[in-house]
Amino acid sequence: MAAVDEPAWRGRQLAEAMYRQWVTELAAITALPQALRARLGAEGWQVGRPAIAQAFRSADGTERYLIECHAAGPQMVETVWMPEGDGGETGDGSEAGEQNGTGEDSAQRGWRRATICVSSQVGCAVNCRFCLTARLGLERNLSAGEIAGQVVAVLDRQRVEVGRDRVNVVFMGMGEPFLNYDNFMAAVRLLVEEVGLSPQRMTVSTSGIVPGIERFAEEPAEVRPKLAISLNAPNNAIRGEVMPINRKWPIEAVVDAVRKVRLRPRERVTFEYVLLGGVTDRPEHALELTRLIRRTGLPAKVNLIAWNPGPDLHYTTPTPEAAERFRETLIAAGVPAYLRRPRGRDIYAACGQLKRTVEG
Ligand code: SF4
Repeated sequence: MAAVDEPAWRGRQLAEAMYRQWVTELAAITALPQALRARLGAEGWQVGRPAIAQAFRSADGTERYLIECHAAGPQMVETVWMPEGDGGETGDGSEAGEQNGTGEDSAQRGWRRATICVSSQVGCAVNCRFCLTARLGLERNLSAGEIAGQVVAVLDRQRVEVGRDRVNVVFMGMGEPFLNYDNFMAAVRLLVEEVGLSPQRMTVSTSGIVPGIERFAEEPAEVRPKLAISLNAPNNAIRGEVMPINRKWPIEAVVDAVRKVRLRPRERVTFEYVLLGGVTDRPEHALELTRLIRRTGLPAKVNLIAWNPGPDLHYTTPTPEAAERFRETLIAAGVPAYLRRPRGRDIYAACGQLKRTVEG
């Protein structure tokens, strides 16, 4: 609005229309005078958001979307809707004291709470060995509008009532959010300040980008999501193999950076741990992990994720018994641990499977 010599409050009207009313066309923003809409249209201005180009629905209710982003030519990213939460972000004690703020409408719609998993980049440069997204390499960063727009597109599709329905947002889709830091945090601000979502219902997952974690530690609590570290191994030797980024920032450096984050009361840092059959799922790994977590001195919990298979990835899924034994070992040592139900494996929507697969 400043660029077209309009007062700042016109910008507020525009944000209200795009992020609260989810209007997708300039002509439909009735808060703006007709003459102004016509002038903006004639000058080539557009409003809108990334569009859901394709949707795949899993037997478990999960939906995976191919979302078209146009900022630098049409490119697809992936966004996932997980009704009932994903078992790791909800129901794990991290939201103690919260009410079940769900209305009857949500029950009728078939879900009582849900998690939206969004992408922060087209592809990813980090190259975790177990992840299909890594195969794409990094194509480009998403803009703040493209990141927040994925959330708005899904809220609109699912007819979510912000402030009433219990919806979590996790920045765990394609890409490493802390390698697109400015746009990621600008998207969080849009979601908090314009859309009205709570940062305490958002979690960002990083592979351990130390400078990003240090910047994150400086963010004010009003806009800071919760933090998850994608750990995936009990020591530097294995982590260096599974996640080559560990050679640049080993576990100790990551933990030192996480210590700088001023956690809210009762807030815990999540350590994500992908169980790779025979590689990271052995009982001795669980014991090593408990020692590591205790040594960090951080209020922490562990989310265990049985690895989700993908073409040309040479790992195996752990047996259910190995996964359960791993979890029990952590619990016995006093480390809160949750085994996430895999969501939407049949539609390539599960963790590490996002690669713009065009099959359902
Ligand atoms: S797991 Fe995350 S950080 Fe690692 S390659 Fe995949 S998308 Fe990138």
